[in-house]
Amino acid sequence: MSAPPLGRVASLGRRLPPAARVAAGRLPGSLAPPIEPGTATPRIAIIGSGFGGIGMACRLRQAGIETFTIYEKADAVGGTWRDNTYPGAACDVPSHLYSLSFAPKTDWTRKFPEQAEILGYLNEVTDRFGLRPHLRLGSELIEATWDEEAVLWRLTFADGTEEVADVVVAATGQLNRPQIPDIEGLDQFEGTVFHSARWDHDHDLTGRDVAVIGIGASAIQFVPEVAKQARSLTLFQRSSNFVAPKPDGAFSEQAKARFRRIPGWQRLYRFSIWVRFDLRWVMFRQGSKVAALGEKRFAAELAKAVSDELPADALIPDYPLGCKRILISNDWYPTLFRPNVQVVTAPVERITPGGVRSDGVDHPADTLIFGTGFATTGFLAPIRFTGRDGRDLHDEWRDGAEAHLGLTVNGFPNLFLLYGPNTNLGHNSIIFMLERQIGYALTWIRRLTGTGAASVEVRPEAQVRSNERLERRLARTVWAGSCHSWYKTEQGKITNNWSGPTVDYWWRTLRPSAEDYEVRVGASGPDPERPVVHSGVGGSPE
Ligand code: NAP
Repeated sequence: MSAPPLGRVASLGRRLPPAARVAAGRLPGSLAPPIEPGTATPRIAIIGSGFGGIGMACRLRQAGIETFTIYEKADAVGGTWRDNTYPGAACDVPSHLYSLSFAPKTDWTRKFPEQAEILGYLNEVTDRFGLRPHLRLGSELIEATWDEEAVLWRLTFADGTEEVADVVVAATGQLNRPQIPDIEGLDQFEGTVFHSARWDHDHDLTGRDVAVIGIGASAIQFVPEVAKQARSLTLFQRSSNFVAPKPDGAFSEQAKARFRRIPGWQRLYRFSIWVRFDLRWVMFRQGSKVAALGEKRFAAELAKAVSDELPADALIPDYPLGCKRILISNDWYPTLFRPNVQVVTAPVERITPGGVRSDGVDHPADTLIFGTGFATTGFLAPIRFTGRDGRDLHDEWRDGAEAHLGLTVNGFPNLFLLYGPNTNLGHNSIIFMLERQIGYALTWIRRLTGTGAASVEVRPEAQVRSNERLERRLARTVWAGSCHSWYKTEQGKITNNWSGPTVDYWWRTLRPSAEDYEVRVGASGPDPERPVVHSGVGGSPE
């Protein structure tokens, strides 16, 4: 269903199905009392309908704000959980923590949720909060330009449509642009090629000779499944991983009943996982004794399995624990010992029409799967954002993206980033971080409500100060070491990860400091009679 224009969304609340109205009103955890009905609120454009975009929309509805549209380039909601449908796709964060605190699900089937259940959850939340009338699917934003005079963003979409919005919330994620390396000969390969995030479900792998290039978080999930079907499976692994056991299992009916029936039990359970996970932060500091002990035990265990077929470099990482994502799986190592699986650690030289050549040896394959991850450091790319005085966001970020608390960027008023620069984690749930960011953006949206056409922009000194602190702290983390990862740019700037435990982020985002921001009121406001313009999408901004 396509969404109505922003100018009309103010009346949406009245048109929503009663169940959705009740759901949005009744759910616990609203951040503040809902805005008085009838209050004119800013027009908000949310870009993306993954966890961030959906979560933002839920919170807006809880706050009584209906003047928003979620623009989604695909034809369905779900973000990374819509795109990554490879066999074995699952989350390595427990289900109760990998879900929105204000939209609890008590009947998760497993401790670690699988892709289909997470996607189902996101769709269910979309319905529960009555978000579908706000969704505009198949709308890919290509350009956003700040109009200083009109105090709004002008948005241009791939289909040529133009819209305006007072506030933009960019929820495009960090892992949405699959990366396929430019390997010589790839265009001459005669078999079937695809990336893990664009799985070719029409291609039956039964009896195939499969080659997988890139072994990271995605590959360790799909490789065990592919190995069961393929005749042969050759893994081209540039770096090995730390793979710990996965304490997974199905929730019993009694456990689910406890979550459902005992007041506060689900919240307590969720909280206990969050605390336990946050304590793991100690492992990510350079010189951590806990990490050193973990590394030693890990290497000693794996040394027992080293053989001619599986040499030490295929099994034991040569970088510090945590420098790349620590993975969990119960079937990774057993898969490596299967007779139809071979690990190649020599670099890939080229792709041939019939396979992959490495170290002068041709490995035949009729199917080539890339598990090579995503283009992660070009935040918001390929969308072009032009801010105040014609400043280009990607130009500002040419030495590596940065924002104030990952959320706001000087020169780009009324723009809030969710899962922006330096908000990724190696030890806890991204959903926690997203909820902090959503709350922060919502606080500003509330402050802008009723002020007239107004803008809020982080002051340059606040952005510099918070990034200096971030850099100082990141320099003491394991990621600052020599290991290569998607957390940093080619030049070595860590652009993706937060620099501490999530409790630190919680504290820093608790209440946006008014001194860190400049609020400007446009020519038209403040005007209590016409506090914020609602002239319709693409209409005159007045
Ligand atoms: P990834 O972790 O970045 O792994 C990419 C793999 O491709 C690495 O093994 C990398 O080797 C290799 N590679 C990259 N370029 C290569 C090249 N030119 N030649 C040979 N090998 C190359 O990507 P991913 O597995 O898709 O996972 C990305 C992220 O998605 C994860 O870190 C995680 O945050 C998220 N994810 C999460 C879950 C979850 O359960 N929550 C599951 C899947 C993915 P090097 O290591 O040597 O660079």
